[in-house]
Amino acid sequence: MKIAVIRGDGIGKEIVGEALKVLNAVSKKYKVNFNLNEVLLGGIAIDKTGGPIPQETIDVCKASDAVLLGAVGGPKWDNIPSNLRPEIGLLGIRKALGVFANLRPAILFPQLKEASNLKPEVLGDGLNIMIVRELIGGAYFGEKKRIDIPGGQKAWDTLSYSTPEIDRIARKAFEIAGQRGKKLTLVDKANVLESSRLWRETVTEIGKEYKNIDLQYMYVDNASMQLIRDPKQFDVIVTENTFGDILSDEASMLTGSLGMLPSASVGDGKVGIYEPIHGSAPDIAGQDKANPIATIMSVAMMLRYSFNMNEAADDIENAVSKVLDKGYRTPDIMREGKQLVGTVKMGDLIAESI
Ligand code: NAD
Repeated sequence: MKIAVIRGDGIGKEIVGEALKVLNAVSKKYKVNFNLNEVLLGGIAIDKTGGPIPQETIDVCKASDAVLLGAVGGPKWDNIPSNLRPEIGLLGIRKALGVFANLRPAILFPQLKEASNLKPEVLGDGLNIMIVRELIGGAYFGEKKRIDIPGGQKAWDTLSYSTPEIDRIARKAFEIAGQRGKKLTLVDKANVLESSRLWRETVTEIGKEYKNIDLQYMYVDNASMQLIRDPKQFDVIVTENTFGDILSDEASMLTGSLGMLPSASVGDGKVGIYEPIHGSAPDIAGQDKANPIATIMSVAMMLRYSFNMNEAADDIENAVSKVLDKGYRTPDIMREGKQLVGTVKMGDLIAESI
């Protein structure tokens, strides 16, 4: 199994190092070999090659079975032309690999209930929502333009979707719902947007093939409110790119810390990208303070979705839970009476537990 490893910038190096430690523990336990190839992306690629996404990175990723990614970006590259910024590397690798579905679980470990901003009675015995966000279409990738007009400028972005683009992500979402609580909520703005009306028609049609899934519809403004009011009503949410970007960040905060949440980006091709949902956290980089759990849980998603190693994925999730049970916490999730540990120690504890 070939894995392209992209450490990226800021805390990327540190958290990916810990995730590889855990992968190594899985490799020993299950006697499987992972063939790792390190490549550059983002700020470090700009410094070393002059651009955020070298051709070699695209080639190595395409020839791999999965990509493990830390995070890219940082203040050093904030003032360079927008077509050369680290984030271009991120969008570029997603597009190059055709990963159209971003799977973002928002899981609240019962041990970390007090880290959530919500009241305990709203959270019950924990949370487990999966947001399936369309990743390579919609307004972020549509035609954009600016023209001069009397009095200033006019700018527009185009939000468009085709039936095949909706069809492929809807099927992914129905299948994921089938492996979980069998409930799928389509979030859209079909009362005002034509593209949303096409989403609703297409998803409804496909829903007829998945009779065991309870399909519900919700406008995005209502969904943003319901996520705070009663998050336990959701199982799987499927939505377009921009709505998904915003709602998945909102859902992540229900769980307390950005440092806990993994993500997977998958398509019809064989290569998936696995990465934490947070950025490169330049404010804590190089200080042994970053929480590596989001990246370690991304490795669990890689084993589950790319390598079909469900037992090993369970092992990682259980190891994280065990280490939290024992009271170990990185600074972002630290509470009184718990044992403070750094990035490296947290990685060691989880790897040992496997
Ligand atoms: P961020 O997610 O990097 O950080 C937000 C806050 O959360 C910071 O206070 C940070 O210290 C904290 N945090 C993040 N991850 C943490 C972890 N694992 N453990 C403990 N604390 C953690 O977002 P930002 O500050 O808005 O962005 C910083 C840089 O990252 C920017 O250059 C941005 O463009 C980039 N970024 C990259 C990605 C990506 O690579 N996928 C995503 C978002 C932002």
